[in-house]
Amino acid sequence: MPELPEIETICRALKEKISNNIILECHFITNLKLRKTLPANITEKIINRKIIDVSRRAKYIKIILDNGNILLIHLGMSGKLLIKDDNYLYQKHDHVAFKLSNNQQIIYNDPRRFGMIDFIEQNSSILDQLGIEPLDEHFTDLFLQNILKNKQQAIKLVIMNNKFLVGVGNIYACESLFLSKISPIRSANSLTQAEIKLLRNSIIQVLEHAIKQGGSTLKDYSSISGENGYFQNFFNVYNKHGTNCALCQDIIVRVKQGGRSSFYCPTCQL
Ligand SMILES: [Zn+2]
Repeated sequence: MPELPEIETICRALKEKISNNIILECHFITNLKLRKTLPANITEKIINRKIIDVSRRAKYIKIILDNGNILLIHLGMSGKLLIKDDNYLYQKHDHVAFKLSNNQQIIYNDPRRFGMIDFIEQNSSILDQLGIEPLDEHFTDLFLQNILKNKQQAIKLVIMNNKFLVGVGNIYACESLFLSKISPIRSANSLTQAEIKLLRNSIIQVLEHAIKQGGSTLKDYSSISGENGYFQNFFNVYNKHGTNCALCQDIIVRVKQGGRSSFYCPTCQL
């Protein structure tokens, strides 16, 4: 599943590739339903509009049009955006094509169809309900401290909760807790101020590092997808259960939390 760093990488690549183009056509390749049915009037809303920017909010890709309205895309579990020439032959799981004025098209491909394509007005508040962005200036030590206090829930589940903080997926939660030497099963309200500071820095560090790695894989932009990121080569604990911790040689363990696996070093992370 693409996570925040992959989506950020995709947005940066898309911005470079599609900005200043006009959307000439919205072509429905299949009539299969995505997570949500496409708005009936999407074609008339986006046709002949110029793309002026591409940005990210949580895991939503915002393609911003010249009237301020937004073509909103979420990749779900398995969605991909491909940039192809006009003579490209559609492949299995290609669902929608947006044809552009530069003779290219943005293809939305999604085998599992948990993704969505939507259209929102410039002043829509729909994205305001999401939690704080971890790479935003509002994500301060004080903000994190306020979220964690009075919460007995495990720290990992709190930092992964999109109501508070968006985009800290399982991998990034496990890796940032390792860097902070905090056990994922500790209760959120047990963290000291020094640990909170360290955790905030680690979350930012892990995400920025992953974005850097993801960005380096998108050389030709012909296939814009996060799945080729190199960040996986830098995992300390994620999916490393049964192997030795790089710091202390103890064995990395796996536990279940909230239906997901957590990976941590029981010696380094207390
Ligand atoms: Zn260790």
